[in-house]
Order: sequence, then C-alpha cells, then structure tokens
Amino acid sequence: MRALITGGAGFIGSHLAERLLLRGDEVLLMDDLSTGSMENIRHLKKFERMHYFLEPIENRQLLTELVDEADVIFHLAAAVGVRLIVESPVRTIETNVNGTQLVLEAACKKRKLVFTASTSEVYGKNINVPFHEDADLVLGPTTKGRWSYAASKALDEFLALSYWKEKRQPVVVARLFNTVGPRQTGRYGMVMPTLVGQALEGTPLTVYGTGKQSRCFCDVRDTVEAILRLIATDRAVGEVVNIGSDFEVTIEGLADVIRSRTQSSSPVTYIPYDQAYEPGFEDMLRRVPSLEKLEKLANFRPQTTLPEIIDRVAEHLDPKRNRDFVRTRQAATAAD
Ligand code: UDP
Repeated sequence: MRALITGGAGFIGSHLAERLLLRGDEVLLMDDLSTGSMENIRHLKKFERMHYFLEPIENRQLLTELVDEADVIFHLAAAVGVRLIVESPVRTIETNVNGTQLVLEAACKKRKLVFTASTSEVYGKNINVPFHEDADLVLGPTTKGRWSYAASKALDEFLALSYWKEKRQPVVVARLFNTVGPRQTGRYGMVMPTLVGQALEGTPLTVYGTGKQSRCFCDVRDTVEAILRLIATDRAVGEVVNIGSDFEVTIEGLADVIRSRTQSSSPVTYIPYDQAYEPGFEDMLRRVPSLEKLEKLANFRPQTTLPEIIDRVAEHLDPKRNRDFVRTRQAATAAD
C-alpha cells in the first residue's frame, strides 16, 4: 500500500509512518514542521520507501499530486495542543478547516479513502461519560478561545461526513482521546511529557486547577493499531469512531504515579487555570471514551497500561537515567 500521511512528522503521524514502513508499505509524508519536527522522522530516512515533503498542506498542487499517487490518505495535519490553540486561534481555525477541505477535495477526484483525525475535544463540556459517538457536543461560547479547536474539528467532521453522503467519497473519522508516548513534546502544554520531564529533572510537577480533573491516556502504538484496523474494514466508512483508552486517572493521581515510577522526589505544585492558560479558561472535568464502537468495528481495545506508558515516555526523555532505574528496579524485584 502507498499511504499519504499529512502531518507525518508530528507525534502520531511519525508513529504511523514507522509502523507502515516496518510492515513494508510505502509512505508519502507531508508536513510543514509547524508542530512536527525532523527529529520525529530522522530515523525513518533509512527506508527507501519513505518520501517526505516539507510543505504546508495549503500547497494544493503538491497535495493533489501526492493524493493521486496514494492508495489511502491519513489526514493528521492539524494545529494541536490546548496552549497553541489559546495562543494562536487564527492559525488553529485556518489550518484545521482549510486543510481538511483541501484533502477531501483532492481525494474526491478518484474516491481515495481518507482517514481523518478528529478529537475528543468535540464532546466539550458534556459530562455524561463515557462519551458515545452519537452524544451531543456541548461547547462553550465563541468568546472563549479554547472552543475554537473543538468547533473547527466538528466542522471537519461535518465536511468529511458530507463528502461521504453527498459524493460517496469514502471517509473514516476518528475522535482521538489523549494520546501519549515517546516523541510527544511538552512544548504545547501536554500533561504527560511535561510532568514526566519535571519528575526526571527534579523540578515541581505542575498540576493545573484542582488536579481532580481526569483523563484517559492511550499509548500511541495502540492508537496506530486502532487506526490501521479501522481503515481495513469497509464497515468503518462513513462512521465516527472514538479511539483511546478508557482507564481514567485524575491529573493529581497521574502526578503520583509518575513520581513513583520515576522514583522522583519532585513536589507537586498546583497552578490556577488563569495562570496556566488565560483568564476564564474552561477545562473539561472528565473525558472517557466509550470503546464499544471501536471494539465492534476494529475488534480491538488499547492494551498498554499507565505505568508502562510512563516508563516508555521516561525512557524517551532520559534514556540513560531510566535504563539505570529499570535495572535497579528489576534487581529489586528479583531480590524479592
Ligand atoms: N495539565 C496539567 N499540568 C500541565 C499540563 C496540563 O495539570 O503541565 C492538565 C490540563 O489542564 C488538563 C490535563 O492536564 O486538565 C490534560 O492536558 P493536556 O493538555 O495534556 O490534554 P487535554 O486533555 O487538555 O487536551
């Protein structure tokens, strides 16, 4: 298979590219390195079947050529990370909406399958967890910048589903819940790399708000597996499917597990949302996916446990220190 991955140098895109290359597929990768980085894909350059193009998705001519060459398109290019969204709302809205429109338009000429990545953010302030794909989207007012991300992704979903209904352009829409793993950067505010990094450095772990808000963290390898299974079944075409873990942990609980896995003596410090983001920032208290539909369509549930995820992230951030730590731990377990 020849796959085009937009946003292929991003965190999830680079893991998807790696997986496809390892199984023998050819990968066309398009990324403008706005939030992705060469670091993420440097180790993939050795594959002859990998071709990368450092161009924005707005380069319509290149996008069209690459779409024509591909058998399937994974559209992952997007503005991500709550901090980026709060700081650069124009870029968020434009990238998310225009990018998806260009991809669908190009794919539709030859009805190439498009997998498009949406987000659990679209459920907004809905409190009825677990979230089922047909649940109401409960967004805040347009005066609060945070909701522009959810609204722009919801529009992407409408567009993709409309292309399917009206033009029989095959699409699979996935709502990705918190996805974590090696190569995710804390630069855009994501909690897992930020807290693990702080624990390894011995600086205070910054828990925002009360720390009672919860999330479910899914290892990126499981996310990639779910994506590949979904695009392999015709039953997922025209559907919206949650992808994530349903193991829920509060953020202060996460900070505790991180401190213990990394044997860190860092204290935990609580920072009000107003300071962490912007005045009036609204967070989501809980965010848990229903995985019924994913299980039905892809016959898959995420496998990786939270401690394993934390170990993998720590190993990536500080390979030496963590290897020593794992060795000590194994020796201690053996002695027990
Ligand atoms: N968070 C935190 N400390 C940090 C970064 C994030 O407590 O240094 C919180 C954030 O306010 C949210 C949760 O962790 O409640 C998850 O944040 P992230 O940005 O990773 O993902 P989100 O679920 O908000 O998209």
